[in-house]
Parts: sequence; structure tokens; C-alpha cells
Amino acid sequence: MKSVKFESSGALVPVGKILCIGRNYIEHAQEMKADVPGEPVVFLKPTSALIQTGEDIVIPPFSGDVHHEVELVICLGTGGKNIPLENAYRHVRGYGVGLDMTLRDVQSDAKKKGLPWTISKGFDTSAPVSVFVERERVGDPHGLDLQLKVNGQVRQKTNTGKMIFRIDRLISFLSSVFTLEPGDLIFTGTPEGVGPVHSGDLLEAELQSVATLRVGVR
Ligand code: MG
Repeated sequence: MKSVKFESSGALVPVGKILCIGRNYIEHAQEMKADVPGEPVVFLKPTSALIQTGEDIVIPPFSGDVHHEVELVICLGTGGKNIPLENAYRHVRGYGVGLDMTLRDVQSDAKKKGLPWTISKGFDTSAPVSVFVERERVGDPHGLDLQLKVNGQVRQKTNTGKMIFRIDRLISFLSSVFTLEPGDLIFTGTPEGVGPVHSGDLLEAELQSVATLRVGVR
């Protein structure tokens, strides 16, 4: 079973589900030529996709177009079903930064054929995540700069205040569909600026004063 690590305690938390939100920033929906959704767009990654800082993203032989998507990631401390909006933050154990690596060619083909995104989003190494920081030490999770550098150049930069569906809404909505459990992760969507990575690249993601993530590509 895969785990994520927490900074202050060093606790290793076994990961349950990895829930991901698509099109949660207006400019990213626009760059994908997609509608801004009326409710959250949801997909899943398997836990086998997780890697940690210092490891490498491995480009699979069946794709020629692997894209980076930097995202704030939530780790849940407690689960629940039909969690009311006003209680949602109590279920958050902590925050980190992650990359929703995406096989854009495989995903585009699936979209055209009306097929699921599972392969394009869930391949091995498609979910790099940082060490996580406890919620109590983060303050307002919607007041943080989020950025990604590739080989030292800024490729994506936003503020988490620009999310369309905020964290409490995501938790409440997701819990109406799935029973949430401790150790579930939620990737909260990427801002504009997604683009390809290549073998030999160094990706450095940062969630302002909370978490950093460094991974290579091969
Ligand atoms: Mg994404």
C-alpha cells in the first residue's frame, strides 16, 4: 500500500482513493477549449500511480505527449458520507502539492471516442506528491500561490483563490457520491499553462510556504 508523509510528525498515512477534479480554473478550461462546468468534473487515479519527491516520472511507450498539471492536493483525516459544507474543512488532515500528469494524446483520443480517461490519467508515476503539512499550520488554503517550474522556467502560476469550486464544496460534493475515508487524496485541478515534458526535464512545484515537490522525467 502506498503512503504519503506528513512534515511535522513524520507520520506515514496510507492512501485510500485518489479523487481528481478537472477544469477547476477558468483559464485552464478555456485553454482546453472546454466549457466551464456547472458542477465538479471528477475522475480517479489508482494509488499505484503515486510517486514522491526525488523520484522520476516515467513516460510510457504508448504516449508521445505527456503534460504537467500542477495542483493543490488535499489529504483527508476523517471520512464521511454527505458531509455538509459547513463541516467540510474539519475532514482535512493537511495540504500538499502534486502533479496530475496526463497523456494528452491518449486523453484526446479517448474524448473523441467518448471513452474513459483512466489510462491517460492513471498510468504508473502519473501522481507525484510532496510531503503534506497539517491543516492547522496552513491558514487559508485559498490564499496560496501555486506554481510549477520546468528546468528553472515558470510554466504555471496561479493563486488557489481562483478555484471555481472551493475545497469545502469539493469535499461536500464528492462525499455525496463516494464514501470518503481517512487517507483519501483530492487533486483540486490545475490552472492554465499546461504543456509537455520530456526525458531529462526537472519539475519543481511549489505551494507557497507549504510544500515543494521535485521530480525528474525519464
Ligand atoms: Mg488535473
